[in-house]
Amino acid sequence: MSSPNEKTLVDTAPNALPAPEVIEVTSTRVMCDGGGGALGHPRVWYDMGDDGFVECGYCDRRFVLKDGADGH
Ligand SMILES: [Zn+2]
Repeated sequence: MSSPNEKTLVDTAPNALPAPEVIEVTSTRVMCDGGGGALGHPRVWYDMGDDGFVECGYCDRRFVLKDGADGH
């Protein structure tokens, strides 16, 4: 009673997301809500500290500190 009927689960992303947005900001403290609307997410704040960038854990957007924006 061996069944060759194997299921192969190919987990392809049904809705491949486009490349994460890169958003230039002038402050190390940024807010992201995913852009609002149905595609948004709860409003969260990030502090990129000394790294100069931070990625949103919800929508994968990357916030990058603009050059020369520090402490002016
Ligand atoms: Zn986000």
